Amino acid sequence: MPINSYRLSLAASLLVAIVQCIGVPTAQAKRASKDSGSTTTVVIDAGHGGYDRGGIPGQRVSEKDMTLDVAQRLKSVLTANGYRVVMTRDSDVFVPLGTRVAIANSYPNAIFVSIHFNSAKRSGAGGIETYFYSRDSLPLASAIHYYVAGGAPSSNRNVRRRGYFVLRRTSVPAVLVECGFLTNPTEAALAQTASYRQKLAEEIAAGVRGRSTVASPLSTTRVATGESIPLQPYIDQTRVAKSERRKSKRSHKKSARKKKSSSKSSGSEAKTSSKNQEG
Ligand SMILES: [Zn+2]
Repeated sequence: MPINSYRLSLAASLLVAIVQCIGVPTAQAKRASKDSGSTTTVVIDAGHGGYDRGGIPGQRVSEKDMTLDVAQRLKSVLTANGYRVVMTRDSDVFVPLGTRVAIANSYPNAIFVSIHFNSAKRSGAGGIETYFYSRDSLPLASAIHYYVAGGAPSSNRNVRRRGYFVLRRTSVPAVLVECGFLTNPTEAALAQTASYRQKLAEEIAAGVRGRSTVASPLSTTRVATGESIPLQPYIDQTRVAKSERRKSKRSHKKSARKKKSSSKSSGSEAKTSSKNQEG
């Protein structure tokens, strides 16, 4: 239900963006033609890989395998749509985050899409969430989230702003999409079906294709939306679950307090406290 109303409100803002485009055909037309296929390089980043399985310890479904499969499906869809596609990994290998960023930054006209699945100690936690950091990345994040969350039976955890390394250090529009919780039995079962992974790939591709609709540099909608999405503090249930897990290695109540105060910090600081967790 919230997904429907989200779709409606996004549809309304898309419409506003379109109306604004009509008044300024030249710049918009240029941008639109630049965005249509062949000149855009999509750098697809399958989260984790190799010894980095992703997710939380003891998680049954391996995140790195799911992300790679969706990434490869996305590559097929986008290639068929005329995009140039570069994969940060195309097999089960570990690729450092710095290398992933360097790959993205070596293509000036690229957009970067990092694919992840979520995890939480609480098996009931579920839903789709999409992250961006720079303002230039918001249209891409909004468009991808619109399609993925709209197409999934999972709940909508919204577009969020957070300073993940691969989002903060990329110089091109960059988005990290969390395609559901592998620790949620329903979402894990879905993720394990090829047809659902194909659907995820197609929805992400639809977002890539549709991003220029909300990419108007003159759109005040875009700025307003950017400001309405604050940097995410370190409070949502996944992260809380993860931080609880981490702090159990150290002293208990002390780091709980620390964690709370760091939740007020900026994205980059939040990132520091979650350094090895790219979703
Ligand atoms: Zn991940």
